[in-house]
Amino acid sequence: MVFLPAFSSEESASTDLFFVFQNDKMMVKAIGRDKEIPCRADIQQLQVTLKSINHLGTLNGICCYTAEVDQACEAEGVSFLELRSLLGQLDEELFSIAGRAYQIIHWERTHKFCCRCGNRTESKTEERAKVCPQCGLIIYPHISPAIIVAVTRGREILLAHSRRFHSQFFSVLAGFVEPGETLEATVKREIKEEIGIEVRNIKYFGSQPWPFPDSLMVAFTAEYAEGEIRIDEKEISEAHWFKPDKLPSIPQTGTIARELIDWFLKSEA
Ligand SMILES: [Zn+2]
Repeated sequence: MVFLPAFSSEESASTDLFFVFQNDKMMVKAIGRDKEIPCRADIQQLQVTLKSINHLGTLNGICCYTAEVDQACEAEGVSFLELRSLLGQLDEELFSIAGRAYQIIHWERTHKFCCRCGNRTESKTEERAKVCPQCGLIIYPHISPAIIVAVTRGREILLAHSRRFHSQFFSVLAGFVEPGETLEATVKREIKEEIGIEVRNIKYFGSQPWPFPDSLMVAFTAEYAEGEIRIDEKEISEAHWFKPDKLPSIPQTGTIARELIDWFLKSEA
């Protein structure tokens, strides 16, 4: 599947795909166990009123749109599911478009008014941006960069249970980038603040958009340098060095956290 991002389209077809949100839930068609994205013909049949419609681009030549509805509609074979729960259930490419769709809807919802003078914003016609007709401020979709890092010490990996996690699993460390920081500085600061140790040999690993609501996870690997584990109890409830054959429960596949842990397991094999 090939997705080509775009900002607008003149065409309209019954096969156009619609990524429709009601709060944090997205409309899907359930065909047996498979989840599909509704098309324009489905939306017309449901007779729902869409707002904040944005063109996203094309998937194998089919136009993709995002929009939202005030209320989840009831119809046979159609349900609204938490976007997060669709990770691993939807095809990878479709989930990635759904994440893009949600980030744009979230931005639409949170930037209806100018954050400098308070006037109602308007959509720019020539690019994906909002503009304030009063003071001229231009507001682009918001992205919050965060680092995520696998720290290794010989044949061990550092995994922690964060107080933000919804269930009892352990993962690699993550944290938001602060203004003025390089990504490497964020890696060092987060590890020092949360775990109390120093690291070296920080290397770029990869990245993943994380639309909950608007993060971009930038992943690194790093080696332990010095210090003893001393956790920041406000953020972390537990952190330990784990050997490959004694891992606790870890994040699901499809997340870059899991890719980092799988990288560690493979490099230790
Ligand atoms: Zn303004």
